[in-house]
Amino acid sequence: MLVFRQLFDPPSSTYTYLLGDRPSGQAVLIDPVFEQVRRDVALLGELGLKLVATLETHVHADHVTGAWLLKQRTGSRIMVGKASGAVGVDRHLSQDDVVQFGGRRLMVRATPGHTNSCLTYVLDDRSMAFTGDCLLIRGAGRTDFQEGDTAAMYRSIHEQIFTLPDDCLLYPAHDYRGLTVTSVAEERRFNPRIGGEISLGDFTGYMKNLRLAHPKMIDIAVPANLRCGRPEIDEAAESGPADATRLDPSWAPLRYSFAGVWEIDPHGLEETAGVVQILDVREPEEFTGPLGHIQDARLIPLGELAERAGELSRDRPIVAVCRAGGRSAQATVILQQAGFKEVANLTGGMLRWRAEGHPVEGGST
Ligand code: FE
Repeated sequence: MLVFRQLFDPPSSTYTYLLGDRPSGQAVLIDPVFEQVRRDVALLGELGLKLVATLETHVHADHVTGAWLLKQRTGSRIMVGKASGAVGVDRHLSQDDVVQFGGRRLMVRATPGHTNSCLTYVLDDRSMAFTGDCLLIRGAGRTDFQEGDTAAMYRSIHEQIFTLPDDCLLYPAHDYRGLTVTSVAEERRFNPRIGGEISLGDFTGYMKNLRLAHPKMIDIAVPANLRCGRPEIDEAAESGPADATRLDPSWAPLRYSFAGVWEIDPHGLEETAGVVQILDVREPEEFTGPLGHIQDARLIPLGELAERAGELSRDRPIVAVCRAGGRSAQATVILQQAGFKEVANLTGGMLRWRAEGHPVEGGST
């Protein structure tokens, strides 16, 4: 079975694609975004997948790739088009190369035009293809900067993408209207830039007159992407080897969830006890009820937390607790909105705390 997820980076409107092979647990990410690495690693963990490679469709001008950071965190191999000239690449890809993940494969097609090194990745059964900034949904990538070449793009789309099966689903690197997927037959017929009877001359006329603004990020993104997203040497030296994780909290062994919450497990909390404030957000009758509570926990029911957050110290991290870990996850959101930086949720709440045999005050056994 194929695991497939389409992920989105709102600031750059970039799609990142996760493809996983369930039997082997191996996965690849196409076009990961630097700022979304924490999210992507959380998702891989929750799905039980091991990232074997990151693949770029091209050297992006609008965001920095997460390839290098993902390699630091997961050991994944960095794969980029050969014509890119990027450094720090583990494998250079070109036409007809095959990328294996478990029992599945992606076939590489060179689709230059937006840049020289643009690639399209086609799934082994030709049911889906990832077109990067070559063919977009009812559009096409820009050809007015980097190594843009309108004639090359026309050929790439006609010879490498429109030759795929009619019902092959096409997933682009971006969409600015929130559209998520298209198909070969649809684009061949309805793409206003290159579909139907549109000739190279028509296409060139269209592309010349797009009158788009210069990409905001290009001067930062292109040099960074030519290093596969590795921060500049000076910057890395200053922050030392912990660079890859410098944004992660270090006060306890925390895990970031795909839902966007920092989680601590009962064992981790017991080891940190005394250092952290334990905040119980259940109702008073639950606090004194059969599940009992954790020693030194302070009770502020979730419904009162926004008003009473000032009762908590800002000098010590806070771990929120409830019955099963749901309300307390929301408590961490409320605390962050109130300006608390170091907050985490006790995974599984009192139920798991008790099930794992940690000490409880009050309650029944
Ligand atoms: Fe691009």
